[in-house]
Amino acid sequence: MSDNKSRPLRAGNKSQQPVVCLVSLGCAKNTVDSERLLGLLVSAGFLIAADPADADLCLVNTCGFIQEARAESAATLRELAGLKVRGRLRAVAALGCLAERARDVPELAGLLAAADALIRFDDYPRLAEICRALLAQQTPDTTAAAGAAGLSHVPDEFYRLPRLRMGAPHTAYLKISEGCSNPCRFCAIPRIRGRQVSRPIKALVQEARELIALGARELNLIAQDTTSYGRDLYGAFRLPALLRALRALPDPVWFRLLYAYPRHLSDAVLDVLASDERFCPYLDLPLQHISDAMLAAMGRGMTRAQTVALLDRLPRKLPGVTLRTSFIVGYPGETERDFAELLDFVREGCFTHAGVFIYSHEPRTPAARLKDDVPPAEKIRRRDTLLQAQRAVSRQHQRARVGRTLRVLVDGPVERGAKVPAGARAIARSRHEAPEVDGVIYLRGAGAQRLAPGTFLDARIVRGLDYDAVAEIAPAPPALLTDTRSKKHQTG
Ligand code: SF4
Repeated sequence: MSDNKSRPLRAGNKSQQPVVCLVSLGCAKNTVDSERLLGLLVSAGFLIAADPADADLCLVNTCGFIQEARAESAATLRELAGLKVRGRLRAVAALGCLAERARDVPELAGLLAAADALIRFDDYPRLAEICRALLAQQTPDTTAAAGAAGLSHVPDEFYRLPRLRMGAPHTAYLKISEGCSNPCRFCAIPRIRGRQVSRPIKALVQEARELIALGARELNLIAQDTTSYGRDLYGAFRLPALLRALRALPDPVWFRLLYAYPRHLSDAVLDVLASDERFCPYLDLPLQHISDAMLAAMGRGMTRAQTVALLDRLPRKLPGVTLRTSFIVGYPGETERDFAELLDFVREGCFTHAGVFIYSHEPRTPAARLKDDVPPAEKIRRRDTLLQAQRAVSRQHQRARVGRTLRVLVDGPVERGAKVPAGARAIARSRHEAPEVDGVIYLRGAGAQRLAPGTFLDARIVRGLDYDAVAEIAPAPPALLTDTRSKKHQTG
């Protein structure tokens, strides 16, 4: 593994080594793939530029999950093709989920028209060879060019490649599996990434060690469904075993569990999460809906009663747990009554953080055969109404923390000119905020702007905002990892 310093500009590239830039779109799982793709290229002698204008070749790791993401990928490719026309770049290639999705849904191929080549998952280990062919203005030999049918998978050997870290080193994603074997009727992931493929516990612990050695102070466990970890590889749910193996690492780091599938979240997982202060009392638990009719129509495999029973059990099993979720509104057949039930559920205030998405037909999914009967304007009204309700709930959670002293992880100084609360000098998060998706804690106090990213310290919450909070750096020297108010952990 190595850090991501930009290498010499192409113009000043006396080394004649080709310079590649990779634009990584979509989710954190794509980010992890992008880091490995960059690691592979550096090991093959390529230089890496952060800016496409400084590169000979630009790769776009696309997202094909939903319409908006596909539009963003297409726009990025067109923009880069414009750079090529103006003579800066020699070639632009598309990788990732949209390149794979276009095989399954040929009518999406037009979105990739600006790319000189499509590189599908099974070609990842051959990326260096493909890039050299593109730079020599040759048509690379790829499975996409060969029109290979069938779903492609990222070969195992790819996951043993080094990662060139993108973004801040103090927070990293650990992708524990790829693909999904769940039957959600609205979701195209199984048609893009295939069925779940878990990585061995030993390899994941080794990767965690390497990320920590590179400065990671927070490891976010990700997958399409983290709670199904191991079912494919070990024939059983093995997330508790993986968590115990990570717990055996001696390092003062936070571990955070994202993308937990409600139906697979077991007490065994909760017991391990409650066993060590380094496991954040935080769960990302996408519910998608709460009405029985919608849960059944979506193929979520869980009822309202089972969901509520799980939510009742969580704070008992994991004291102080913070919940994130996501909901879909406007699913085919969603009645005003279904929506009203969801709105009331959100107003109950279980979730500190929540995302709300508008349903849209995903080609070739079972739900796409249903009549998309909720009018677009009504979908937007339902999304905005739910977000408004969640905003009030989030504000309540933020204000309830005023006066508490929390252990926080510094992400860095506030950017010059950024619109932040008065006196804020740095941005941090506690164990109750995940990177990139949740609110933050603005730090005030002497020297806050000089705090290094990755620093753990105590901070007292002085103000709760809609999604964020403001805190004063507490005088107490950093000693422990957890929220200083929870006595049990101090002595645990
Ligand atoms: S759990 Fe459901 S929504 Fe999530 S990736 Fe799997 S199929 Fe898609």
